Amino acid sequence: MSRPIHATVSVSALRHNYVVAKRAALQSKVYAVVKANAYGHGIERVTKALVRADGFATVELEGAIATRGRGFAGPILLLEGFFEARELPVVADADLAVVVHSEEQLRMLESAKLSRPLDAFFKINTGMNRLGFAIAEARRALERLRKTGAAKSITLMTHFATADGPEGIGEAMRRFNQATEGIDLPRSLANSAAIFAHPETHADVARLGIALYGATPFGDRAAESLGVKPAMTLASQLIAVQDLQPGETIGYGGTFHVDKPMRVGVVACGYADGYPRHAPSGTPVVVGGVRVKTAGRVSMDMMTVDLADVPGARVGTPVTLWGEGLPIDDVATPAGTVGYELMCALAPRVPVSDAP
Ligand SMILES: *Cc1c(COP(=O)(O)O)cnc(C)c1O
Repeated sequence: MSRPIHATVSVSALRHNYVVAKRAALQSKVYAVVKANAYGHGIERVTKALVRADGFATVELEGAIATRGRGFAGPILLLEGFFEARELPVVADADLAVVVHSEEQLRMLESAKLSRPLDAFFKINTGMNRLGFAIAEARRALERLRKTGAAKSITLMTHFATADGPEGIGEAMRRFNQATEGIDLPRSLANSAAIFAHPETHADVARLGIALYGATPFGDRAAESLGVKPAMTLASQLIAVQDLQPGETIGYGGTFHVDKPMRVGVVACGYADGYPRHAPSGTPVVVGGVRVKTAGRVSMDMMTVDLADVPGARVGTPVTLWGEGLPIDDVATPAGTVGYELMCALAPRVPVSDAP
């Protein structure tokens, strides 16, 4: 028998979540964001599950080309655009849409000879201060983009820094509107948080990431309250059980002190599988259908759980690390991170298969 850890991805949950977001976004088109191997879920699996999506958005050229190669005919947007002029013929041949965010990209487009013009998403920096043209430069840069003749369509775009928090999108929207006032072009503004929290950002194209995978973009709103379901379930089994007496400690560093007789289960899952080493003692795990707590440090291949509430647990009892029955955010929060990071960090050694 092989090591019992495995992940499953539910195609029906992906489809359900897409429909939920589509409904929330009202009349906007919704592009499914599949960067970072579809947030760890497998880009091929996700793009096949969502063949009827309005479009896809990603960062990696290879994934975009492979998605086109599998026959998806709708828009495929490269969220960081292109990095070098020699990518442009490939981008044009696959009819990919590109974010244009920098002077350097404008210069490449000015000297490019393309087999056909591209769909361009013209990105404006409204306060994220990562990619995009400054408010004061935006009109001039847009004029330059138009003059290249390299764009067969232009969509105005920005990305919010605080759509998920109490600061909201007011200041970013004010800046965006200032930069684009009077310009009659389609717009793409919303990420998952803005789709669910800020209807005024829905515009023409929304970009759905984390909520597609059934986790929350919000610190204070559970995924369930958005109506989305976990797409990925990470599961394993107990591979040993220990009966411990007071005075013992558990795991590396002996950080967990046993103060009464205690049954402890050893789960075949560790940080080399993508489980966060920073998850403290007390992080939830489901063992045999019962929510229990970790005890002691997470090690490379194993972790330990308190079995006080599952007297029937033995070697082979099923364990859920996150997913169906245990929201990934309930693990991410005590570990000091977000569901996004845990999904993306799923290790290559963990086999992933489709669930219904
Ligand atoms: C990753 C990304 C998104 C998706 O964000 P979520 O919070 O996962 O919905 C949207 N837009 C851009 C530009 C991104 O890079």
